[in-house]
Amino acid sequence: MMPPICQICKEKFLEKGGLVYFEETEDDKIQNERLRLPGFVGHPPNAFWFCENHFTEAQKLQQLNKNEAFKILNVLFEHDS
Ligand SMILES: [Zn+2]
Repeated sequence: MMPPICQICKEKFLEKGGLVYFEETEDDKIQNERLRLPGFVGHPPNAFWFCENHFTEAQKLQQLNKNEAFKILNVLFEHDS
C-alpha cells in the first residue's frame, strides 16, 4: 500500500482522513484483476488517500472514476495545494 499522503495537498497524516475507492476505469479493471492473482501485490490504481480536509469531498465523488473525480477535486481545491 502507498503511505497515507493526501492526494490533494500531499500532506502526510497519521490519524484522520481515509482511503477513497473511485470507480474503476478500463485500465484500473485490468490492473485490479491482475492484483487479485496469487503472487501479485500492489496498491489498487483507483484507491487514493485523503486527509481529513479533503476526504469528505473526495468521498462524494467515489461513483466517478479517478480521472473525472480529480478533474473536479483539482478545481475545488485549486488554492489548497
Ligand atoms: Zn489534503
